[in-house]
Parts: sequence; C-alpha cells; structure tokens
Amino acid sequence: MKEQIVINYDVLTYEQLSEEDKALVENAKKASLYSYAPFSQFYVGCAVLLENGVTITGNNQENASFPCGTCAERSTIFYAHSNYPDYAPVAIAITARQKDGEFIDTPLPPCGACRQALLEMEQIYKRPLKVILYSTGKTFILHSIHDMLPLQFSATMMQ
Ligand SMILES: [Zn+2]
Repeated sequence: MKEQIVINYDVLTYEQLSEEDKALVENAKKASLYSYAPFSQFYVGCAVLLENGVTITGNNQENASFPCGTCAERSTIFYAHSNYPDYAPVAIAITARQKDGEFIDTPLPPCGACRQALLEMEQIYKRPLKVILYSTGKTFILHSIHDMLPLQFSATMMQ
C-alpha cells in the first residue's frame, strides 16, 4: 500500500500580495538589514504578525561557534512567544539577502528545525500560521506550517 502527501501553496508576484502581506514582507526585508551573518553572508529577515496586530521582526544571528547561532525564524518566533504569550502568531514572512546585498530570486523555505518550532506554535494556539516566502522572482504562500512538515513529530505522541 502506498499513500501520497500533497502540499498546496499559492505562487504569487509581490504585486499580487494583499496589503497586509506586503507590509509583513517589507518588515521582513527591513529585518534582514540587521542580520548578524559574517560567516555565511546570507542575511535572513523575518516578520511575524500576531493576532493582536503587533508585528515582531528578527533575523539570523551567527556565532564563531557555529552551533550557537540561530535562524531568523526561530529568533523571531521565540521572541514573539516570550513577549506576547497570549497572542497567536497568524502569519510569518521570510526573505533573505545575499552577499551582494540583493534579495533572493527564489523563495527560501525554513530549515527543518524552524519548521518544527513554528509548528509547535500552531499546536499551542490551535490556529494556522500562514507562511509567506518572499523573493524578487515569486512568492510562495502556504496557509499552514503544517503543510511544510508532513508526518511531523508532536508533543501529543509522547502521551
Ligand atoms: Zn532554521
């Protein structure tokens, strides 16, 4: 027996984004300017919109001791959750600039560890987290982080 997992997502241009999504993307782009990435020179920026309308931004933070560094997505979502634990994150925009300072031209999906961290937020708040992956070429929109991590591990499995 075989089963199949199908992931649906929207592919849009920047102009096709809603005004709210454009604003979140602009905040993510701005956040990439403050990234600390002297080793990879890959400057990732994130913006998380909370259900109370507050936007939290963050970026990747590297370290000479590589495992100490943290991705932009986790920097941002952990800050949001530690400062606004009563408000669900409803959307996250992610983008990056390269060494030359230009924004990427293909969408940048979060790494596996970040997907796991973001998924837990959906499970805590029982609310989907929209993911906006912005690039100059096209932008992907996933309507839940759950779609990016099928067959996921969750706390309920330990009960
Ligand atoms: Zn990551």
